Amino acid sequence: MLTGIGASGGIGIGKVLIYREPDIRYADRAVSDTAAEKTRFAEAHKRFCADTERKAQSMAGTAAEEILRGHIAMISDPFMRSQIDERIDGGACAEKALEEVCDMFIAIFSGADDELTRQRAADVEDIKRHILQVLLGIEEVDLGSLPADTVLAVSELTPSMTAALDIKNICGIVTEKGGKTSHSAIISRALRIPSVLSVENALATLTDGCEVIVDGSAGEVYTEVDDALREKYRALQKQYAEREALTARYRGKATATADGISKELFANIGTHKDLESVLEADAEGIGLFRTEFLFMDRAAAPTEDEQFEAYKSVAVGMQGKEVIIRTLDVGGDKEIPYLGLKKEENPFLGFRAVRYCLKHRESYKTQLRAVLRASAFGNLSVMIPLVTCVEEVREVKALIDEIKCELDGSGIPYKRDIKVGVMIETPAACMIADLLAKEADFFSIGTNDLIGYTMAADRGNADVGYLYTVYQPAVLRALKHIISCASAAKIRCGMCGEAAADEKLLPLLVSFGLDEFSVSPVSVLGVRAALAARTKAECDRIAEKALALTTAKEVEDYLKNPEI
Ligand code: PEP
Ligand code: MG
Repeated sequence: MLTGIGASGGIGIGKVLIYREPDIRYADRAVSDTAAEKTRFAEAHKRFCADTERKAQSMAGTAAEEILRGHIAMISDPFMRSQIDERIDGGACAEKALEEVCDMFIAIFSGADDELTRQRAADVEDIKRHILQVLLGIEEVDLGSLPADTVLAVSELTPSMTAALDIKNICGIVTEKGGKTSHSAIISRALRIPSVLSVENALATLTDGCEVIVDGSAGEVYTEVDDALREKYRALQKQYAEREALTARYRGKATATADGISKELFANIGTHKDLESVLEADAEGIGLFRTEFLFMDRAAAPTEDEQFEAYKSVAVGMQGKEVIIRTLDVGGDKEIPYLGLKKEENPFLGFRAVRYCLKHRESYKTQLRAVLRASAFGNLSVMIPLVTCVEEVREVKALIDEIKCELDGSGIPYKRDIKVGVMIETPAACMIADLLAKEADFFSIGTNDLIGYTMAADRGNADVGYLYTVYQPAVLRALKHIISCASAAKIRCGMCGEAAADEKLLPLLVSFGLDEFSVSPVSVLGVRAALAARTKAECDRIAEKALALTTAKEVEDYLKNPEI
């Protein structure tokens, strides 16, 4: 298996076609008739612009069209043209003059700090190659009629190459160069062709005509394909296609049941770097920012300013949409070595999450202050993990009030009415949900932990896996109780555990009255589609039948195909 950067999702299964760039080496020579040489270059330039314009038209409405028009503008730039003419006047042949000027720009662009400017170096390289081909009289290799299910292997996918491609017959692309934001990536995403980029020595390793599987989501290329692997990937390909079809239909739509009851559909993130996938997924907010990831893989805790920048970037990026920041949820299965947590007999019942934070008040205040400061830049809320009693919520709120006073004293702005929510993920919190609802601005049910604690079954232990399921009647009753307590207290109830994306469970959650679903970005549109599929009355009938069942298996079997 070869690995690279998964730049355009989906699965392609087909036969490799290796495309090698034509040889554009030329014989350097000194010219005496400089006027004739300039005319020669002017004609090549004209031909290049005409070819590129034709390609741009054939790619109308795509990212490639814009890039190609950019190429015409770049090579027609008076400064660039004058630089080429000057070199020819000095006795250089057109090829040499073009190469020198292009290389100069490539060097300038390649040294830039930002990826976009660096990308322009690839544009100039593409322009250079093409005009050299015209000057040398090399006809372009025809990529316009390819056999069905071709996996194209190229050093780099250039915009000009793309325009000539027989797209309908290309099921995958493998390149040796290009990152996630390279033109190769932008183009392959725009063409919706599964692509893996930056695969080292791809052209030397792959063989023309051999069957490969390109997994553009995982960034993997399988070169040894047997029946079992092919079958597995055909199934994944089908799933991907179904999800894509859904995506197209539900993007930009409001989230509501079939009879128009609005729901909030948020996404879960681990770091501020996940923001792009949240926006791409069309989520309406962030229902769980797992801040412990900011604390992991480093030697010391992030400073207040580092945390502030991370929270602020999400607040700003979400443009006023709500972002629920869960405070540090350390312990249990989440280890952060430098915090020096003691080894415990029972880490899941130990010194973790809010328990740890309230005993380390100064570092907790650092985090809360960072959140409050960032709240001036967007719509942030705070959420407390692993709550088991009312005092914990009161203590956190008192800390927040203390920090608000300090910020007022220093004239630092923050969202004065910032909401403070409680995660309901322990049986204790479930049992006192009515009391917690009086203290909290909202609930978010953490089913990942709630199932484990309710069933006394470790989520990571396969031997008790049969108990660890949301379909257990004990868990369903807990969910119903929590949501009804929130609704009686008129506070919002969300769910940010994995079960919020379980399409079989959704009718029950709708029936119980869950207001907000927070799921991983890839699940957002699927959940929107599933919510739109049923009315509240239908969900109520399904919930009534499911709750009357006695075992998890009966519940799950019924929910697989519920008769109403
Ligand atoms: C949960 O327990 O459901 C939850 C969302 O928190 P985590 O998975 O981070 O423990
Ligand atoms: Mg949890």
